[in-house]
Amino acid sequence: MATKTKYVYFFGNGKAEGNAGMRAELGGKGANLAEMASIGLPVPAGFTISTDVCKYFYDNGKKYPSTLNADVDAYLAKLEKSMGKKLGDSADPLLVSVRSGAAISMPGMMDTILNLGLNDKSVLGLASKTNNPRFAWDAYRRFIQMFGDVAMGVPHDEFEAAISAVKAKKGIKLDTEMDTSDLQDLVGRYKVIYKKFTGKDFPQNPKDQMWHAIDAVFGSWMNARAIKYRELNNIKGLKGTAVTVMAMVFGNKGETSGTGVCFSRDPGNGKNEFMGEYLMNAQGEDVVAGIRTPQKLAQLEQTNAKIYKQLCDVRAKLEKHYRDMQDMEFTVEEGTLYMLQCRNGKRTGAAAVKMAVDMVAEKLITKDEAILRVEPEQLDQLLHPALDPKVVKATEAIAEGLNASPGAGSGQIVFTADEAEKWAKDGKKVLLVRKETSPEDIAGMVAAQGILTSTGGRTSHAAVVARGMGKPCVSGCAAVTFPSADEVKIGNKTFKKGDSITIDGTTGKVYAGVLPVVPATISGELETFLGWADEVRAKSVRNINGHKVAGFQVRANADQPDQAQNAFNFGANGIGLCRTEHMFFDPAKLPAFRNMILADNTEQRKAALAKILPLQKKDFYGIIKAMEGRPVTIRLLDPPLNEFVPKPNATAEIAALSKEIGIDVSTLNVKIASLQEANPMLGHRGCRLAITYPEIYEMQVEAIALATADCEKQGIKHDVQIMIPNVVTYREVKQIREQAQAVIAKVNQESRTNLKFQIGTMVEFPRAALTADQLAEYADFFSFGTNDLTQTTFGFSRDDYGKFCPSYLKQGVLDEDPFKTLDAEGPGALMRIAEDKGRSVKADLHLGICGEHGGDPASIALCYDIGLNYVSCSPFRVPIARLAGAQAVIKAAAAKKPAAKKAPAKKATAKKAPAKKAAAKKPVAKKATAKKAPAKKAPAKKVAKKPAKKASKK
Ligand code: PEP
Ligand code: MG
Repeated sequence: MATKTKYVYFFGNGKAEGNAGMRAELGGKGANLAEMASIGLPVPAGFTISTDVCKYFYDNGKKYPSTLNADVDAYLAKLEKSMGKKLGDSADPLLVSVRSGAAISMPGMMDTILNLGLNDKSVLGLASKTNNPRFAWDAYRRFIQMFGDVAMGVPHDEFEAAISAVKAKKGIKLDTEMDTSDLQDLVGRYKVIYKKFTGKDFPQNPKDQMWHAIDAVFGSWMNARAIKYRELNNIKGLKGTAVTVMAMVFGNKGETSGTGVCFSRDPGNGKNEFMGEYLMNAQGEDVVAGIRTPQKLAQLEQTNAKIYKQLCDVRAKLEKHYRDMQDMEFTVEEGTLYMLQCRNGKRTGAAAVKMAVDMVAEKLITKDEAILRVEPEQLDQLLHPALDPKVVKATEAIAEGLNASPGAGSGQIVFTADEAEKWAKDGKKVLLVRKETSPEDIAGMVAAQGILTSTGGRTSHAAVVARGMGKPCVSGCAAVTFPSADEVKIGNKTFKKGDSITIDGTTGKVYAGVLPVVPATISGELETFLGWADEVRAKSVRNINGHKVAGFQVRANADQPDQAQNAFNFGANGIGLCRTEHMFFDPAKLPAFRNMILADNTEQRKAALAKILPLQKKDFYGIIKAMEGRPVTIRLLDPPLNEFVPKPNATAEIAALSKEIGIDVSTLNVKIASLQEANPMLGHRGCRLAITYPEIYEMQVEAIALATADCEKQGIKHDVQIMIPNVVTYREVKQIREQAQAVIAKVNQESRTNLKFQIGTMVEFPRAALTADQLAEYADFFSFGTNDLTQTTFGFSRDDYGKFCPSYLKQGVLDEDPFKTLDAEGPGALMRIAEDKGRSVKADLHLGICGEHGGDPASIALCYDIGLNYVSCSPFRVPIARLAGAQAVIKAAAAKKPAAKKAPAKKATAKKAPAKKAAAKKPVAKKATAKKAPAKKAPAKKVAKKPAKKASKK
């Protein structure tokens, strides 16, 4: 007989049926409430209806499992017994909150209803029991408003208008000035509004209220903003939200009550300092909404030392228990502390690194755990430029607010999220300036360079969301006021919409105009942290198809000496791809290169190539020098030649070119026409050019050899590798290799050197992968060009897939953009074949990847699993890849070990790493949960982040 599914879980009185490991079933909130209750923290009792019910609800036309009603009845009775009160009792009512909570936190996106259980009778009971009629009537009117708005869709503005009417009648300004009779008047008005919009009287039966609220919370899983949030954060595969019904405690019962939010360490900079904010005589929403600017937690120490001390104890207990930074919500009801929520706190990249390093020093976590604690994409925030300190010193800030989310941002002022989105779409850089932000503003916040708010603390919506996005934010800047809808006054200066300002989220300062920035450097804790990651990768040893593969390196794709220098500074182990064609876009080199393309015969072509040679040699020399002896893989010319000449109908450009290179327009037109191809991506490109015109590669090899010879003579260390692109048969490799070796021999003779170069091939077409054993006979190494390999395996043009990829993703036809995350079953499977075949011929064949996937954490894990020796990515992603590679090593090792006992926090961090079970054998496991970080600007040229513009050739 099938066992009955458990849908409801109790917590309270030092016991709980759930625990922190049950996020999937109880949501983060429910799981952590259960955990807190069971370790003896003061948690109001309650019960959680599991996410399985949400799934059932949507799978069954919004119906509940047949047993749920009875279960909820039983659990409510249990809750009533534990609290010694009955829900909505007319003499001494139990009131509850009904809260949402999914396995992955979606702050503010779903619904919550407070003060449930109040009705015309219980409000009187509450008034007499608390001896505080004003409080009771305020709670009742708040409940009707929240219930009406959230559960029944009554327009929020209607309630607000009623408040204004009551205040106007009385001639008062603040909500707090309303007395009991005003609030009774308001309740009457609210009920009329409620009836007008729902056609029914406000429900008086507490159980009806509760079920409406449960319906509303499950319903909010599919509201537009929750859907948008999941889309933006790539949250997939969840069952839905859980619903927690929990006894109410009140922070608004007067001056001995209050509510607050705190962090066990600073989520902005990671310092081990207890920080937070609270408001006395307030409900939780008042702190988060940013309507009143709360007080710093340190203040509580002065005003209520007892509660502060209790909170400090909770902080210590929770950090020790979860072994991670905690974000906590608390309420003090008439001097008694209650914990309402805890979770692993969101943090900036800088804070994540600092906490991880500090916690290792404190022996709270191991180095491996520290490495797994930081999301690779979070490092991106640390690699962005900061304000130039020299300029900052010489510039006076116009205002200062809270340094809510670090980094510098400049842009044109906009006042609404819609404007931010629209302007950003037009290519403008905007800064969103508002009194406060709310969940509706998310898309505008994504579009903005930074956020400045006049109210709200470090835990306000703006601050929390900005930190999650890695955007600079200055919040609670009291010097910001809004004289009109199109103007903002910051300090003494008035700005109009469209004027530019700069914010520094690291210091909280605001400046007029656009301030210059300086590049990021790797130092301090980040250096230590990435050093650990490097050690892990260096020590890793794998057995892949019987071949021992040691280490997992990170190289960079760099085409110019300054990029190589960046790569070196960011810790690259070498250059994995130098696209030599990028050098020709330099205006100094382009004319000579065009002459070469348009030459009539070999002699002319050779003459043009002779002019290019010294220019290329200089670039190669700079790159080799910058890398101080680390491997530099230089790829011979790849793209089709027509990319370097004007399009056939570009008359003006053709006329200019004719002048520049001295070929008449009509001859030029004929040549240009002859260079056009129906499908250049599969046309005359890569090594096919060298088969037709060997002199091109010969010139390039000569330039490489001469640059290396110069280095040799000057005592500069070098390790240069030559790479052949677009190979489909070993004969191409054999032929080009022989030609290259002849050139190298000539240079060696002339320069009296004895240079040796590894000559390898790219594997970027299925045929190359399938014949890798033959290629390996002639290639010293392989580098997987997964841009072309994805293009040709899927048959998706990398120039055109942006037209249809979004539909594929939206409809779930594909799980991932295959140009962003390497597909394990297509190109990934071919890579496994190539690895196996290649190493069956040369056991120590060195393998790498240089397609854009080399900087994507999930793809890096797959590359590790396939047995590559290195990944290569754009210089700014090198630190991300250093970390992602180490995580892949650690996860693969953990997957091999029998399951170790996990700390409660473990599960909570798992959401960060979609990580595709690194060690899973082909095909790599499908992503079950979320993937963080909406697309971040990567400096790489061809990062196929969004399908929008493609991963085009040059
Ligand atoms: C590739 O195809 O993955 C590659 C690195 O080469 P390119 O992007 O230059 O075609
Ligand atoms: Mg390619």
